[in-house]
Amino acid sequence: MPFGAGQVRVSSISAKDVREKAFRIVLLEEYRAQCAVCQAKFLLREEGKASVVEADAAHIISVSAAGPDDPRNGLSLCRRHHWAFDEGLFTVTDALTVKVSSAVLRAEQRRFDLDEYDGEALVPPAHEICRPHEEAIHWHQNKIFRQG
Ligand SMILES: [Zn+2]
Repeated sequence: MPFGAGQVRVSSISAKDVREKAFRIVLLEEYRAQCAVCQAKFLLREEGKASVVEADAAHIISVSAAGPDDPRNGLSLCRRHHWAFDEGLFTVTDALTVKVSSAVLRAEQRRFDLDEYDGEALVPPAHEICRPHEEAIHWHQNKIFRQG
């Protein structure tokens, strides 16, 4: 078997794993498995199988910066917009609208939807209590967003 596939792997479930799983479940529920930016949604439910969901539960304050697994530190984003958010190509304003970096306009783009969402409102969570926290948003605006 290549790469040791088939070997027994030792695994354990830690409290961190449980928190991350709960974070994902809550966020996808709050945003109805849609991207908060483009509303893309792919959800396949089949009996006896785990659901197939394209959307990611994205951290606003990154895990590497010790961002908490709290729904107020998260957004449901499609893979493309999760990547763009982590790269600072857009951020979220205090009014929960999308703010696209001017760097995006300097990029070579082909069939890449991002700048057209500039100024658009994010899809809100189902419950106000799960709305992105302003401290998390400010962290992303100041530490990750490409200012120009
Ligand atoms: Zn998206």
